[in-house]
Amino acid sequence: QLQNSFQKVFKDLRGQGKISESNIQEALREVRVALLDADVNIKVVRQFIAQVKEKAMGQDVLQSLTPGQQFIKIVDEELTALMGQTHTKLHLSNTPPTVVMMCGLQGSGKTTTAGKLAASYKKQGRKVMLAGADIYRPAAVEQIRTVAEQVGVDVYAPGTHMSPVDICNEAKRLAEGRQVDLLILDTAGRLHIDDELMQELVQIKESATPDEILFVADAMTGQEAVNVASSFDERLSLSGVILTKMDSDARGGAALSIRAVLGKPIKYIGSGEKLDALEPFHPDRVASRILGMGDMLSLIEKAEGVYDEKSAKQLEQKIRSNEFTLDDFKDQLMQIKKMGSLGSLVKMIPGMGSKMGDMDVDDSQYKPVVAIIDSMTGKERKKPEIINASRRRRIAKGSGRTVQEVNRLLKQFQDMRKMMKQFTGSGAKGKGGKKQQ
Ligand code: GDP
Ligand code: MG
Repeated sequence: QLQNSFQKVFKDLRGQGKISESNIQEALREVRVALLDADVNIKVVRQFIAQVKEKAMGQDVLQSLTPGQQFIKIVDEELTALMGQTHTKLHLSNTPPTVVMMCGLQGSGKTTTAGKLAASYKKQGRKVMLAGADIYRPAAVEQIRTVAEQVGVDVYAPGTHMSPVDICNEAKRLAEGRQVDLLILDTAGRLHIDDELMQELVQIKESATPDEILFVADAMTGQEAVNVASSFDERLSLSGVILTKMDSDARGGAALSIRAVLGKPIKYIGSGEKLDALEPFHPDRVASRILGMGDMLSLIEKAEGVYDEKSAKQLEQKIRSNEFTLDDFKDQLMQIKKMGSLGSLVKMIPGMGSKMGDMDVDDSQYKPVVAIIDSMTGKERKKPEIINASRRRRIAKGSGRTVQEVNRLLKQFQDMRKMMKQFTGSGAKGKGGKKQQ
């Protein structure tokens, strides 16, 4: 939903030739509504909008040839910053075992995530041990044992007769003796914040001195997760957050808010019930996902890496004034070949994936296209409109391709030209320039 709203905002913006103060206001208003709809904390939204606004009002953006793209880039960068810039790993202690304490409400996914972390670190060759300190439900003891067995790691879950603090201390003692690298303490949760539980967690913290205290938050609880996380943070001083159930449709709101309000990094996200469904949290990737713009930024980066700025400007100028020719098209193909297939590239452009479906040009189609263009005269390449039936036949013969292939290429070229005009917002101006068609 958040994704859709953003896509709408950006589509509207792309339709505009230039960004002005008034349509930035409009776009910002829509971004604001989209964020609030996604249950992002109001304070976070305000701060976010203010930052984007300040950047978007800059002269560079207002005068840019592609203000819509610039705006998207700013929103993306600010979202990334809001969520913490780079991925933060678990802090592994110099003197093993590293002790990780899981905490959070009941059903948030602590036990499952403990198992996922165990699996992930075991895969990296670490010796991992789980401790079951949820003594309030016999089923919880059974669950952590099953998880440990599934992952294939040691578990200390003596049952309901020992206190959680004693269990954690004993687990740590055992882990030291067994040269365990990573000990994960799985604690109990409650349905709501509860002082008794908090006291127990504080005691565990004080006696087992964990290196990491991770708050496990269910992404589906949205903004409420922020309040809960704040309460836990006040008492326990969290070192990080893990967002679970990111595979549900609720995405964005919680991630944005928790990081921004607590200032504590989101270290991992859970993306399924299976024990391998744990991913490192990459703010930049999640920002793009929220924006629904695929890998927009990597597209921009790729493009920036391959083109020098001058030829990019020239190209933009050509598109604007409707002078984009088949020679340029071929140049583009060469550039694109350097970057990977056009198909994958096009999918990275926001909103373009679907529109461009039938003009996908993959690497195997690249050679025939170049052959066809090479068989055209210079005049034909500059003014494809003059390529009539007999010219098409000649070009087909010369390139060893069929007339249908020539037709398809010319159609693709026209479509691409149309789309580029639209994308750079030069539609209105272009018509006043040279007459085409
Ligand atoms: P705990 O009470 O905090 O220990 O929560 P559990 O680990 O027992 O998980 C509660 C429920 O959430 C279980 O049914 C899990 O399978 C499910 N769950 C946990 N993490 C995820 C996740 O990332 N995605 C999905 N879809 N379900 C999850
Ligand atoms: Mg549990």
